[in-house]
Amino acid sequence: MIPTKILIALTKGRILEETLPLFEAAGVVPNEDIRQSRKLLFTTNLENVDMIVIRGADVPTYVEFGSADLGVVGKDFILEYGCEGFYEPLDLQIAKCRIMTASPLSDTVLSGRVKVATKFPNIAKRYFASKGKQIELVKLNGALELAPSLGLADAIVDIVDTGKTLQANGLEPKELIADISSRVIVNKASMKIKNTIISEILEKLREAVKAL
Ligand code: AMP
Repeated sequence: MIPTKILIALTKGRILEETLPLFEAAGVVPNEDIRQSRKLLFTTNLENVDMIVIRGADVPTYVEFGSADLGVVGKDFILEYGCEGFYEPLDLQIAKCRIMTASPLSDTVLSGRVKVATKFPNIAKRYFASKGKQIELVKLNGALELAPSLGLADAIVDIVDTGKTLQANGLEPKELIADISSRVIVNKASMKIKNTIISEILEKLREAVKAL
């Protein structure tokens, strides 16, 4: 019988640095140094496990549609994408940060119809709707911190870790929207059809997280 093969979608960038040691502790090691390679698809020490390395925003799509069986992605991208299309069985407790609103230091309470720049339009829309606030969304892909000083927005919704990036750009964090960490997500059909291997990897990852 052909062994069931699974494909794991990892998020590239800073999450990857913290993800690889956890997979290593769980016994899944890529056959070459992912960080040094321009390849996107990697074999591993396990014959039946391959890995791809893609943008976080794309991991939920690959997993929901079953192109990847399992993914590692920040909760920010899960919240933005919507949590319905896959299971989220494990919090890896890595790449912790927060999604927050932020605005210029001098601003106290933002009132009226506020212009909000963000990479996360769905999260921002939901948050302000839950507060009963009307906003105008400005979708940007990066350097959000510039938007208030250049008059493009009154506030931003962005990832905050130490808060230094905000501070360096004359902004301060205001409201906490969600605490973020990286999660393992699993395609719903794969969880049934490839349950043995997926459960085994999840169990070992769970142990690795406990040992952190
Ligand atoms: P900081 O200056 O430490 O608050 O870092 C803020 C910037 O770093 C944000 O604009 C994010 O782009 C990035 N960042 C920090 N932590 C994370 C994370 N866990 N995942 C993704 N991006 C992050």
